[in-house]
Amino acid sequence: MAKDYYTVLGVPRGASQGEVKQTYRRLAREYHPDVRKDDPQANERFKEINEAYYVLGDPDRRSQYDRFGQVGDMPARDFGRDFGDLFSPFDDLFDMFFGRGARTTARPQQDQAIGGAHLRHDLEISLEEAAHGTEKAITFSRLDTCTVCFGTGRERGSAPETCPTCRGTGELRYQQQTVFGHFTQVVTCRECGGRGTVIRHPCRECGGTGRREAARELTVQVPPGVDSGTRLRIPSEGEGGIHGGIRGDLYVVVHVRPHPVFAREGSDLYCEVPISMVQAALGDEISVPGIDDPTTMAIPPGTQPGTRLRLRGQGMPDLRGGRGDLYVRLGVEIPKDLTSEQHQVLLQLADLRGERVRPQKRSLWKKMKDLLQ
Ligand SMILES: [Zn+2]
Ligand SMILES: [Zn+2]
Repeated sequence: MAKDYYTVLGVPRGASQGEVKQTYRRLAREYHPDVRKDDPQANERFKEINEAYYVLGDPDRRSQYDRFGQVGDMPARDFGRDFGDLFSPFDDLFDMFFGRGARTTARPQQDQAIGGAHLRHDLEISLEEAAHGTEKAITFSRLDTCTVCFGTGRERGSAPETCPTCRGTGELRYQQQTVFGHFTQVVTCRECGGRGTVIRHPCRECGGTGRREAARELTVQVPPGVDSGTRLRIPSEGEGGIHGGIRGDLYVVVHVRPHPVFAREGSDLYCEVPISMVQAALGDEISVPGIDDPTTMAIPPGTQPGTRLRLRGQGMPDLRGGRGDLYVRLGVEIPKDLTSEQHQVLLQLADLRGERVRPQKRSLWKKMKDLLQ
């Protein structure tokens, strides 16, 4: 059973690093074995407090503990009065017990927490799915924080060792003698990359990188109204971090497939509907396709070819609420296959309207067209 380090220190889970540190310092002074020489329980309490602070006092370990309930590289040793060297990365604690200036080497930052990268996944959906919203299962591969070493890259129980090349300083100094005098050149240590520590026993699971490639399956909720280019942010589904760094986010980028009937502009939809010459002249009530269901639309008598009618609220839903409109462009079809009876009726109509029409023979017309080509 892992201990609740927050209870041990008596700080709330959301306590700041400053609060944790302050509380620890107060408790450590209070229970230090030198202070409570006659209290045998104080020593145990002191160890407990040290262990809790070893974890909560370090942001990387603390985030590891918060997420996994344990820390991957707890030193297998006593947290009694001689624990001081475990805390060496923390200046003020070192100073608290050994006095300011006791340390001789400057400590570079060790095992800095590095957050995981954000990832992008492209998702293609139909216009209908964009209109109604949908659920899509996606599979992608990402780097996950290694579950064996918790992203430290080290075998469990092994601690990072002081880099032998730079002796833990993270930098190398070169003396140069010139005619102007001595110069010291300082360069970052190549062996440890400036961290001052090296990993002697890299984690066997991840080879010391702290992460593993893993497949991830997710169900993405696509809200109604998305368009091509809409980015859906799925928090904490990106790459895992290392050294306690937080996981990145996943961005699902939506692509809406072109639709055979509808064109889209923002939240408005456009479509073309053919009507007959007679419908255009007399008016009618027709059925037009909608993104949800077919809907009926009245055509006024005397409608001209290319007339655009608007159906309010029949377009796409808007991500911010509301709905766009559907614009229907009416194409008037002129009949090409008149029977002789229909031919006669049209001539009568022309006559009634006082139009002089000289009908052409279709076969003749076609011949002329062929000649002109
Ligand atoms: Zn590992
Ligand atoms: Zn080094």
